[in-house]
Amino acid sequence: MTAPIVRTRAELRAMTRSWRQAGETIGVVPTMGALHDGHLSLVARAKEMSTRVIVTIFVNPKQFNNPDDLANYPRTEHEDARKLARFAVDAIYVPDGAQMYPDGFATNVSVAGLTDVLCGAHRAGHFDGVATVVSKLFLQTSADFAFFGEKDFQQLQVVRRMARDLDIPVEVVGCPTIREIDGLAMSSRNLLLSDQARARAATLHEVMEETAEKLGQGALITDLRAVAEARLKAAGFGEIDYLEMRTHDTLALIEAAREPARLFAAVWMAGVRLIDNIEVPEAR
Ligand code: AMP
Repeated sequence: MTAPIVRTRAELRAMTRSWRQAGETIGVVPTMGALHDGHLSLVARAKEMSTRVIVTIFVNPKQFNNPDDLANYPRTEHEDARKLARFAVDAIYVPDGAQMYPDGFATNVSVAGLTDVLCGAHRAGHFDGVATVVSKLFLQTSADFAFFGEKDFQQLQVVRRMARDLDIPVEVVGCPTIREIDGLAMSSRNLLLSDQARARAATLHEVMEETAEKLGQGALITDLRAVAEARLKAAGFGEIDYLEMRTHDTLALIEAAREPARLFAAVWMAGVRLIDNIEVPEAR
């Protein structure tokens, strides 16, 4: 059975109020749609942890710094609802722009520090857009738990900081990255790749795995970067926005993996920007 599609704040509020009165717990999975198994893994986790689950689908214009990217973003609502049917979620919340940003909307949620680096440095305003919409979704759904993928690790840390700083009583749960068989992290943007570009894109994960392994053996990222970047270029990648190792919690740049760290990359393949990150084993 497909879940009810809720389009207004008022309908959503009526639902969540009745659930709360019945003592239920609410889990929310915020998405931009074009759902794949990565999103569905968050839904499965939400079902385990909460008695009611809301999946939100909103292609948030405020987090797109590039109008073409927003225009080209895949929109597959009917198919998404079909994919969610087997999880028996309680509501699919699909607000439109006017529900989210009514006339006169003037507030911006901005998380300092964590957003200065990585995607924040390359996509002006992106994380303000994310923090603003996610704080609204937390308040609109009054969720107890919210599920985010480690695929967007910086986003996960930004959302955690925002919820803590604004005293929003939600537990942010990070979930592991789901990958295609060849290692490419699942992403709605993969749909925009031609077959040939899609096949080449798997090299990103291969190169990241090899680099992370060497970092775990004590190598410095400065000594590995040239080889990694050359391999990416040879595989057909274009611009490399970043290939960096950073600490797990504060996203501080580090050269050697002597504390919990992750390797982060953002690279362009045939006009599509792909991001990925993996844990780096701690070097002894
Ligand atoms: P998006 O629709 O791309 O905004 O993603 C919605 C949520 O799904 C975010 O929390 C993402 O981190 C998460 N997500 C996207 N891709 C994956 C993946 N491959 N594995 C796990 N979670 C993912």
